[in-house]
Amino acid sequence: MSEDCALCRILSGQIGSDPLYENETLVAMLNRWEPLSRGHALIFPKRHVASLHEMSVAELSDVLPIVKRLVVALDIGDYNVIQNNGALAHQTVFHAHFHLIPKWSESEGLGLTWNVVRGLDQSEVYARMIAHLVVDNTA
Ligand SMILES: [Zn+2]
Repeated sequence: MSEDCALCRILSGQIGSDPLYENETLVAMLNRWEPLSRGHALIFPKRHVASLHEMSVAELSDVLPIVKRLVVALDIGDYNVIQNNGALAHQTVFHAHFHLIPKWSESEGLGLTWNVVRGLDQSEVYARMIAHLVVDNTA
């Protein structure tokens, strides 16, 4: 719990919400604060952590099944699932969370631009990733 965190304040009931789903570690609720479309939902851990990589594997493994339940409930085929980490990556609430954003039409939902860098030299970062990649499903 972080007193200055909006999602923690929602979890503690200090800010009202429209809950959709809850289990031992995660909650899902309607994004009534800054929705991009009807049914825009937030899924996040009850435990205050800032970023995805601070979530446990157990917390992470529950996220996509919840997203699937919400998608089935919405009965939609067009939607985005997005998760931002760090200010440069457009994270504005620093409690890890996932967005499920229905794309009902061209104008309603997530607008997205891919900044593709053609010919990018990735050899150094690729070598670093391979050298330091840890396969640990328990962390
Ligand atoms: Zn928090």
